[in-house]
Amino acid sequence: MVDLLKKDKQYVWHPFTQHQTAGDPLQVVRAEGTLLFDIEGKSYIDANSSWWVNVHGHGHPHLAEAVNKQFMELEHVVFAGVTHPKAVELSELITKILPENFQRVFFSDNGSTSTEVALKMSFQYWFNKDEDRKRVLAIEGAYHGDTFGAMSVGERDMFNRPFEPFFFDVDYLPFPESDKEAEILTKAEKLLSTKTFASLILEPLVQGASGMRMYSSNFLDQLSAIAKKYETIVIFDEVMTGFGRTGKMFAMDHCEVKPDIVCLSKGLTGGTMALGLTVASEKMYQSFLSDEMARGFLHGHSFTANPLASAVSCANLDLFEKPSTKEAINTIVNWNQTFADELKQWQSVENVRQQGTILAFSVKNEAGNTYFSSIRDRAYKFFLNNGVLLRPLGNTIFINPPYCITEEEYIELKSVILGFLRSLEE
Ligand SMILES: *Cc1c(COP(=O)(O)O)cnc(C)c1O
Repeated sequence: MVDLLKKDKQYVWHPFTQHQTAGDPLQVVRAEGTLLFDIEGKSYIDANSSWWVNVHGHGHPHLAEAVNKQFMELEHVVFAGVTHPKAVELSELITKILPENFQRVFFSDNGSTSTEVALKMSFQYWFNKDEDRKRVLAIEGAYHGDTFGAMSVGERDMFNRPFEPFFFDVDYLPFPESDKEAEILTKAEKLLSTKTFASLILEPLVQGASGMRMYSSNFLDQLSAIAKKYETIVIFDEVMTGFGRTGKMFAMDHCEVKPDIVCLSKGLTGGTMALGLTVASEKMYQSFLSDEMARGFLHGHSFTANPLASAVSCANLDLFEKPSTKEAINTIVNWNQTFADELKQWQSVENVRQQGTILAFSVKNEAGNTYFSSIRDRAYKFFLNNGVLLRPLGNTIFINPPYCITEEEYIELKSVILGFLRSLEE
């Protein structure tokens, strides 16, 4: 283990990293509950839930048991032409907790593939109907993943510039700031009424990667209603907002108008394994039924519906059924409200915003809000030095801790964040 860093530098290529200038990675060797432990035994509060995936804390015994038990029964099997109990159980469980129009579950490997599958389904839906609908409507600032289809419908920025020539055309609506909602809905109606759009894809209520930008459920209802009026397939990418993050199980639970397809991943396996689900309405599914093989959805992955990932997802959903989980979520929502009010008092803070367990604010920054702002690096280092792993997005600092965070840990997290703000005002 002494060689961990040396060998990492020799062999490993990390995600979202410019290796020429990046500092040393944090060497994490163990985790428990809300805490990560580095190679020297120092602990860190996992304030962003390990990139949103962890919901009930690290090393949860109920999840561990589910994986262990499943491994001894059936660790993996091909899913084309084969079924197995945990895939069926998970499909039943997830369709029961989603609104009633969600009836068909397609398995893939992560968030990007779950949106990729949703886009392919919506394109093929129109292909199967022999109708010429090829356009996609998305929202500026969107992030739907890093595969080609997902990148095509996301924000066109420096993250994906080398690939831009290969993207398909997409129309974008401006981000729905509250004073622009009416104008944007008019624009949406104008576009969608052409009946040339295959789908509308969006992150409901919170745009994550572009800086925790939040918008109203009322706007979202109106936009979805317009899309439905012109029969455009509505896709909610709930990869980030799913599993309690917005205070309710899914962001769509805050909405009246439900989408046709929902994409799920991050919190799905409780932060233990890679798995994605694309859940569709019966109407979508029916449009693929035909005597012709080619009208079926001919898509799959080696690890489609992996039994270990399916089993741990079922166990994750068991934990969501416990009243104590709902209480824990409500408690974090309340703590966040109090903390938000406190943050509003600070000179260096602006745009404090909250959606359930997600709390975000911007640090005033003359250089503007870019992912690479110097505030970002300064904040990241300050937090690490003070025992908190928290990845700011540019000058946006946000917390979305695992639901098992204790009051003591939350107070500690708060005091480290306030300590950083104090260091800016010195
Ligand atoms: C993270 C994320 C994705 C991509 O998921 P991966 O598992 O990283 O591929 C897609 N959509 C949203 C909204 C996300 O936050």
